[in-house]
Amino acid sequence: MDGFPSFLAVIGHPIGHTLSPVLHRAAFRALGIDASYTAYDVAFERLPEVVRAMRTLEFRGFNVTIPHKTAVIDLLDECTPTALRMGAVNTVYVSDGKWIGDNTDGAGYLLSLGREHGFAVQGKRAVLLGAGGAAMGVADALLGAGLDALWILNRHRAKAEALARRLAQHYQTNIVTGTIAEWPRERVDLLINATPVGMVGFLEGELPVPPDVFHERMLVSDLVYRPLVTPLLAAADKAGAKTSGGLGMLVGQGALAFERWFGVFPSMDVMLAAAMPELDGSASK
Ligand code: NAP
Repeated sequence: MDGFPSFLAVIGHPIGHTLSPVLHRAAFRALGIDASYTAYDVAFERLPEVVRAMRTLEFRGFNVTIPHKTAVIDLLDECTPTALRMGAVNTVYVSDGKWIGDNTDGAGYLLSLGREHGFAVQGKRAVLLGAGGAAMGVADALLGAGLDALWILNRHRAKAEALARRLAQHYQTNIVTGTIAEWPRERVDLLINATPVGMVGFLEGELPVPPDVFHERMLVSDLVYRPLVTPLLAAADKAGAKTSGGLGMLVGQGALAFERWFGVFPSMDVMLAAAMPELDGSASK
């Protein structure tokens, strides 16, 4: 380092419940890096002036969350192919003086599946529930890693179809779209919930799928991490399936962002351990 602390941030609106400062500050401490990471609540119309200010103050980079993930693209110098495919940026870093937008959500998801279960995507069949921003990142990463077949099941069929069309511009994999009523007859190896169903304070206690879809060789993954054990994960576990919670993806995308900024891959265990106390008992948060 050059003797000055590095400035980093996450910008979004609302930003109140973000765990990113906790994750990154833990990694700074563990690696002895002199840096600050702050959460800024930035209203949509203030995005350009805030990004300008971060450039002026020579921030090392920043994370971007809802509602700025797409709008920020026009304010940067370049975007990675991943961010361009998704039309969304979650991480901005500086390279040769240029501000580059990247998206580490999908790669972070794959990292967590590999780390927790040694799950190899190649040749597998997956059902993805939801067709929003999180679903896009996960689908892109799974298809890029050689998934054999993907069903996108969404409450509104048209949105699943729009996502499938977008993915089909980049991948040849067979993608089937529908609603939850059209659960595939074929073997499903991986089920991903990319909807907020089951989340604390939203559709708490609800299952996004009928309870008879699980089987013992299925990996069931929920992107929701409040609560840590969602109704979906509890039901899947009871049926003998393997499970994976949303905190792994959050930490994975954060660790990859950290690597873009500092060129060092931080300890995901350190980041996970820092986040846990914030989420334990999150039923009341
Ligand atoms: P989004 O863009 O708003 O998309 C939400 C999706 O959920 C849409 O497909 C929507 O369906 C569906 N949905 C919403 N309410 C529903 C309901 N009552 N029943 C069935 N489907 C419903 O949101 P997002 O950013 O993709 O986030 C989705 C979830 O992933 C959130 O819970 C978020 O917390 C989680 N997430 C986790 C991570 C992580 O790191 N673990 C990262 C990002 C997001 P329609 O199209 O029919 O409206």
